[in-house]
Amino acid sequence: MGKKTTTSIRDLLFGDLWEYAPAPQSSDFVTLKERYGHFINGEFVETEETFDTINPATEEKLAEVCIADEATVDTAVKAARKAYEKVWSKMPGSERAKYLYRIARMIQERSREIAVVETLDGGKPIKESRDVDVPLAAAHFFYYAGWADKLNYAFPGAQVKSLGVAGQVIPWNFPLLMAAWKIAPALAAGNTVVIKPAETTPLTAMILAEIFQEAGLPPGVVNIVNGFGATGAAIVNHDDVNKVAFTGSTGVGKIIQRAVAGTGKKLTLELGGKGANIIFDDAPLDQAVEGIINGIFFNQGHVCCAGSRLLVQENIADEVMAKLKHRLSTLRVGDPMDKNTDVGAINSREQLDRITELVAAGEAEGAVKFQPSCPLPEKGFFFRPTVFTEVTPSHRIAQEEIFGPVLSVLTFRTPEEAVVKANNTPYGLACGIWSDKGSKLFEVAGALKAGVIWGNTYNKFDPSSPFGGYKESGFGREGGVQGLLAYLEVR
Ligand code: ADP
Repeated sequence: MGKKTTTSIRDLLFGDLWEYAPAPQSSDFVTLKERYGHFINGEFVETEETFDTINPATEEKLAEVCIADEATVDTAVKAARKAYEKVWSKMPGSERAKYLYRIARMIQERSREIAVVETLDGGKPIKESRDVDVPLAAAHFFYYAGWADKLNYAFPGAQVKSLGVAGQVIPWNFPLLMAAWKIAPALAAGNTVVIKPAETTPLTAMILAEIFQEAGLPPGVVNIVNGFGATGAAIVNHDDVNKVAFTGSTGVGKIIQRAVAGTGKKLTLELGGKGANIIFDDAPLDQAVEGIINGIFFNQGHVCCAGSRLLVQENIADEVMAKLKHRLSTLRVGDPMDKNTDVGAINSREQLDRITELVAAGEAEGAVKFQPSCPLPEKGFFFRPTVFTEVTPSHRIAQEEIFGPVLSVLTFRTPEEAVVKANNTPYGLACGIWSDKGSKLFEVAGALKAGVIWGNTYNKFDPSSPFGGYKESGFGREGGVQGLLAYLEVR
């Protein structure tokens, strides 16, 4: 638990007494298997080669996970094709909907267990897995269940048809939620699925597989294969896949775009970001500071739409920075399983190294680093919440996605300058605007090149709200009626 470094009346009165006692979430009721395989054609199957999935907060091994080679992926695609031709594409939408509703309810029933496993495997604070990831995953299945029998109303006047087999590859920052974002609309639209979870976070997808089995989802409708990039590539490059959906890094997104070019496969990419959180001098500052914190420290900053660049109007910069530094020093960093933890573990050593390297680059380029003096656990992958001031738009920390709890602060004087600076990035995923004036908010929003723009809030998600980017952040939308477009042929 962090000690506070500023002196408030509360500190003077209570001092160290005002610390949170440990509030660990129990994991006793969760039994992990020693080994996880794949879920193909409705059954759990194992392959020989394995890798370990670890708890990034303790570096302890949680389980062994099998690696799918090309032949295993081929078996999964064949199962998906058969299920598509024989069962799923023929089933009335109202029947498909029943499965999706059932899956949503079963996620809710097992929500605490799933939240615990998500946190153990990925390092995010339990309060986030419990209150954000798992409820939103269930909400996605509920939402798309509602569309399954209404596809003809989704695009009035058009004919719609499912595509076939969807090949999907997802990242490690929201493992269950990304699986839900991908699987729910695909199934609602009448497609079948082969999906690969990320190699550092495969476990909640395996619980989802158990749910599919228990829900009686016909064999082959969803197939889950584990492995690394090569397994993902085998899905993407399989001849019998009709649609590819990828969420992950821009680098891999570009490889996939090249691989899919000219094949006739439909493609959606949800890639990186470098979101600007713009604070005008007429904004409610205390709320804005909460929005800045949520924008960059939610999920340790492992969020593609994170508000990783703070653009603050120059005349309020000192006041905002003072409030921000104080708030930063109250963040509780550490054990993700503690219900009071705000910032948990970095997902992997590889990611920790990348964050460390970019933060060193920020210092070397002349930006000024601020970190609270909170203690970090001795084991595990942790990084102090970090704020850089004196950042210029050309610094690497202003341009590159850090994907960690690191905020780069820039200032501006006029709305026009804010827009130019916010758009000065190869990415175009998300932005936040904080202002008391609705007219200013809408005018600035109209000028920003980002797929998602929040007004006086940040990181708010809803299944009915489309999400996706421009430029190097990718294309296509997930969520909402727009999210169905990726899984349908509309004529
Ligand atoms: P991150 O930086 O978030 O780890 P990656 O893009 O490396 O992002 O990983 C996202 C997902 O893409 C993971 O499931 C990973 O295994 C998979 N992946 C990595 N390389 C490839 C590839 N060449 N083709 C398909 N999938 C890949």
